[in-house]
Amino acid sequence: MFFCTFVARMTKKINIIGFGLVGSVLAFLLAKKKNVQITIFEADLASSSKVAAGIFNPITGKRMVKTWLADEIFPFLLQLYSEIEADYGIYFLHKTPIFKPFHDLAEQNYWMGKSAEIEYKNWIEIISKSDTTNIDCPNGGLKINHSGWVDINLFLEKSKQIFKDNIKSELFDPKNHIGEINIFCEGAHAAQNPLWKDLAWQLNKGEILDVEIEDYNTNYIVNKSVFILQTNHYQRVGSTYHHHDLEPKITQNGIAELEEKLKTFLKSPYQIKDIKFGIRPATKDRRPFVFEHETQKNNFIINGFGSKAVSLAPYFVSQLVEKLNLD
Ligand SMILES: Cc1cc2nc3c(=O)[nH]c(=O)nc-3n(C[C@H](O)[C@H](O)[C@H](O)COP(=O)(O)OP(=O)(O)OC[C@H]3O[C@@H](n4cnc5c(N)ncnc54)[C@H](O)[C@@H]3O)c2cc1C
Repeated sequence: MFFCTFVARMTKKINIIGFGLVGSVLAFLLAKKKNVQITIFEADLASSSKVAAGIFNPITGKRMVKTWLADEIFPFLLQLYSEIEADYGIYFLHKTPIFKPFHDLAEQNYWMGKSAEIEYKNWIEIISKSDTTNIDCPNGGLKINHSGWVDINLFLEKSKQIFKDNIKSELFDPKNHIGEINIFCEGAHAAQNPLWKDLAWQLNKGEILDVEIEDYNTNYIVNKSVFILQTNHYQRVGSTYHHHDLEPKITQNGIAELEEKLKTFLKSPYQIKDIKFGIRPATKDRRPFVFEHETQKNNFIINGFGSKAVSLAPYFVSQLVEKLNLD
C-alpha cells in the first residue's frame, strides 16, 4: 500500500498538446525519462509539419549568414535525430549538402573570401561546376555542409505508431486538465489559444510544389531563389513566404512565383504533380517561444519555430525538458 502511494507520487503526468514535428520530438525526449507518463492530444487539424520540406541549412537568409546558434544546434540536431533512428530503427534523416549556384562572378568572389574565414571554413566550399546538367550555373556555386533534410511525414507516421497507446485523437480541453503539466505544441493554432494568443506571432503562409523534372539527377539540395529537393518520389520546390495572406488556400500567385524563380536556373522540363500550403508558426522577432505561462502555472509553450523547426526544435525541446527537472 505504502509502495503504491509512493510510486503514484513519483510519476509525473505530462500532456503533450499537438503531435507535429515539435510534439513528436518532445515525446521521444520524455520517453527517455523514467517517471513520466505522457498523454498526447492530436486533433488532426492543419499541420505545417505535414507540408514542410524538412530542410536544415546552417547558412540562411537574404544575406546568407551562419544561422542563429548554428555551432550548437547543428551538432545537436544530428545527434538527436540519429539517436532516435538508432533507438527505434526508423530512418528519416538525410545528410545532404546544399548547392547554391552563384548569380555572377561578384558573388563567387565574395564567397571565395568568406570560405577562408575561420567562422565559415567547416561550413562551406566553393564548387566550380555542378554535378548535374539540370541546373544552369556558369559561375559555379557554394556547397553548404552539415545540411540536409528530415523526411517529416515518415517521422510523424512512425512516431504515431510508436506512441499509439499514448495518443488521444481529440482536441485538448484545458478544463479537464487543471493542475496537470500541459505542454502546448500546437503550431499556428496556438495563435488562437486564449493562453497564448497575445504573444508576438507573425504567422506566414508557405506554398510548395511537387514536380517531376525530366532526368533529374543530383546529389545536392539545390537552392537559389527557391530550393529543389529530391524526395523519395518527386522533386519538391519551395517555398513562398507571405504573412499578409493567411487565407487557407493555394493561390495562383504563389504557384506563379515559385515557377518563375525555378525557371531562372532549372534547364530541364518539368510537370507539376502536387501543390500544398501550410501556415508557419513564426514570431515577430524570429525567436521561438519556450516558457511557462506567467500566471497559469504548469502550462508551457514550445512553438514559434517559423521556417527552422527541423534545426531548432531538437535543441529547444531538450532545453525545456531539462528545465522540467524530471530526473
Ligand atoms: C511550405 C512550407 C515549407 C516549410 N519548410 C520547412 C523546412 O524546409 N525546414 C523547416 O525546418 N521548417 C519548414 N517549415 C516550417 C515547419 O513546417 C514548421 O515550423 C513546423 O512544422 C512546426 O511544427 P509544429 O509541431 O510546431 O506545428 P504543426 O506541424 O502545425 O503541428 C501542430 C499539431 O498540433 C495539433 N493541434 C493544435 N492544436 C491542438 C489542440 N488544441 N488539441 C489537439 N491537437 C492540436 C494539430 O493538429 C497539429 O498536428 C515549412 C513550412 C511550410 C508551410
